[in-house]
Amino acid sequence: MATHTIPERVATFREEYRRKYVGARYSGRAHFAFTSVGSLAAIGFSLSRLEAVRPLEWLTVPAVFLLGNVVEFLGHRGPMHHRRRGLRLLFQRHTEQHHRFFTHEALAYESARDVKMVLFPPVLLLFFLGAIATPLAALSFALVSPNVGWLFAASAVGYYLTYEWLHFCHHLPPEHPVARLPLMARLRRHHQTHHDPSKMQRYNFNITVPLSDWLFGTTWRPAAPSGVDHPELPRPRAELEP
Ligand SMILES: [Zn+2]
Ligand SMILES: [Zn+2]
Repeated sequence: MATHTIPERVATFREEYRRKYVGARYSGRAHFAFTSVGSLAAIGFSLSRLEAVRPLEWLTVPAVFLLGNVVEFLGHRGPMHHRRRGLRLLFQRHTEQHHRFFTHEALAYESARDVKMVLFPPVLLLFFLGAIATPLAALSFALVSPNVGWLFAASAVGYYLTYEWLHFCHHLPPEHPVARLPLMARLRRHHQTHHDPSKMQRYNFNITVPLSDWLFGTTWRPAAPSGVDHPELPRPRAELEP
């Protein structure tokens, strides 16, 4: 339970969102379990199909990781923050809801029911597995080798799960032991800065490892010479209400 002060506009939005969209039967724990168990089952099944993997075939894993990092970045900087034909739902859920439910001043859940506003809906895991990971894995299976196909599937789902788990952790209360681990605290600060409405359209789009932010030059620095951002530190209490 968060004890931090929540700005009034965020508190109002949260109340309204919970009333309208979080049904009485919704369970944050079940949502988290479905995402985790569903993904782990798909990963386990794919790995169980591997046979005598050659050293070069293992390169599929880092290659999918890099690809995943760029896709995460482009998807977040693009349709999640800009209205795009056919992808309006992503914009709505992310910019209009996730970013209003959580800001840099109020980044943490208040209860397990707030998990609904962080994890992708279960149907998206099924869509991701069926419509994206499976065809691409099948293509690698047919064009390169069966091992590369299965490694592709396992890594892609592994990346999806890493994204979900890390984003889930970024929104834990800051005093939670997991949120306080040094690496997690660093990644959390990266995401917290992105949740500042004045920075969300331009900085810190990676949720996992901020590799693409570094590659594309979108990592926010306190002294970024943008001319529009205030040069304050990206710490929660350094930000004041306008
Ligand atoms: Zn977030
Ligand atoms: Zn965002």
